Amino acid sequence: MSAVTEQPLTFKGYFRNIKEAIVSTVKGMAITIKYVYGVKPVTVEYPEVKEVLPENSRSRLYNDVENCISCMQCATACPVDCIYIAAVKRDKDAPKLKTTSGNPIRLDLTQYTIDTALCCYCGLCTTVCPTECLTHTTDYEFSQFTLDEMKYDYLAEDVRAWRTRIVK
Ligand code: SF4
Ligand code: SF4
Repeated sequence: MSAVTEQPLTFKGYFRNIKEAIVSTVKGMAITIKYVYGVKPVTVEYPEVKEVLPENSRSRLYNDVENCISCMQCATACPVDCIYIAAVKRDKDAPKLKTTSGNPIRLDLTQYTIDTALCCYCGLCTTVCPTECLTHTTDYEFSQFTLDEMKYDYLAEDVRAWRTRIVK
């Protein structure tokens, strides 16, 4: 290893160091003053103030089950297998049902659950849904205390009631 030899500080170098110290201090203080007095705060006092996410945000999923035809395409497309669907064939004498987009409903949906603790919000399930009943919403207020509570059953009354809060 070669030893580092310190050069003696010249008279000129001494004043150059002082000048550099003053310049960098002034620059640093200018940035500090700009942020203290010149920039609007970017923090939001949540939950009193709530940010509105863009319309195309991929946040909480919602299935408008009345328009679900139980085709399983969403569950098949899901890369993490977090959509659980069960359905039974409709009775042949039961009244004919159609979705709002005109698709015949041949199965009665008996379970439509998404485990949002596993969901990676990739959006594939909404992309393949033929009736567009499965959509991402802009809602981000659905934290829970346990992982099990992150499983949302879209046939359950409380989840269906939540729709009225988020669907326009
Ligand atoms: S957003 Fe992706 S991970 Fe989440 S349920 Fe849909 S397909 Fe599965
Ligand atoms: S893809 Fe759409 S219609 Fe098919 S089961 Fe999933 S949510 Fe229902």
